[in-house]
Order: sequence, then structure tokens, then C-alpha cells
Amino acid sequence: MKDHKKLEAITEALINEIGEDPTRDGLIKTPQRVAKAWEYFSQGYSANIDDIVNDAVFDEDCSEMVVVRDIEFFSMCEHHMIPFFGRCHVGYLPNKKIIGLSKIPRIVDAFSQRLQVQERLTGLIAESIKGILDPIGVGVVMEGRHLCMQMRGVEKQNSFATTSAMLGQFRESAETRAEFLSIIRMRQF
Ligand SMILES: [Zn+2]
Repeated sequence: MKDHKKLEAITEALINEIGEDPTRDGLIKTPQRVAKAWEYFSQGYSANIDDIVNDAVFDEDCSEMVVVRDIEFFSMCEHHMIPFFGRCHVGYLPNKKIIGLSKIPRIVDAFSQRLQVQERLTGLIAESIKGILDPIGVGVVMEGRHLCMQMRGVEKQNSFATTSAMLGQFRESAETRAEFLSIIRMRQF
């Protein structure tokens, strides 16, 4: 990351501002830790999707739906800079090309590790898969818990926000959408 010192100074100022003493034992190294943590939380800004995919796109005459479900994600709400996190389900209908399955969670990470709103994050993942594979259709569903809601006592301690992005045949065909939704609702075996 570019400037840890600035992040550390900002964190120290924040600690001061909320009425704490940044020089006491437990807090003395906190600015350094927070700076490192933010480096991690924001690494999506320097992620390069081409590098992530790294030629793991293969010609394949598969025409069945491919689904990777229950991908854990962690992101930061851009309105409060507090985490939201949960599970992401990605499905696509190949158009003679498939992607290495392990790449899909990495794409989810690349867009999650930024300041986001869940609605946009969902769309970005879908558009990214579309751009890489030009599939017949792609669907992304995200279920997230938002700590900015839960911690600030806006009631609803156990509510999930669900967002979806459906492109191509996932948007046009109710049958395709239903197949995708039934697969992601299947419980673990
Ligand atoms: Zn928020």
C-alpha cells in the first residue's frame, strides 16, 4: 500500500476524537494494525481481473448450467465503512467457454475488497463473468448481513439483504432463473 503513515495518523486521530487515549498500552499499536487491515480490505482496488483469470478459460462444449454457491464474501459498506458479509452464488450458462471454478471466488473477492453497496457489488460480479466468458446467461445472488444495520440497533438483528443480478437468458427465461434459484436453495449434501 502507498501510505501507511497517513492511515496510521488518521486512525490515531480517530481514537483521540472518540475520547480514547491512543498512548495507552492496548492502543499504542492499534493505528498500525488498522492500517494493515485497511490495506487488506481495499486490495480490490489494485486487483486486475485479467491477472486473476490468468488464461483459466477453456473451450468446452458444455451447455449445462454451472453454479458455484455459498462463496463467502466480506465487504465494506460505503455509507458507513463498516462490514457487510455473507454468501454469494454465481451461475452461468456456458457458450462454448468455461472458467476454472476456483477463479469465481477470486473474482468475488476482487470486487468485495472495496467500499461497496451490495446492489452494485452483485452487478459488478455478474458483468465481470459476462465480459470474461460471453455466456448465454449469468446470474448472481448475494445474501448479506450488514453490521451498519445490526450494530447501530436499527432493529432487525437477524435480517439478510438479498440482491440479484440476472443477465442474458437468466433474465429472459423464467425457467432458467427457476433452475438457478432451485440449485442455490439446495441444502448441502
Ligand atoms: Zn451501511
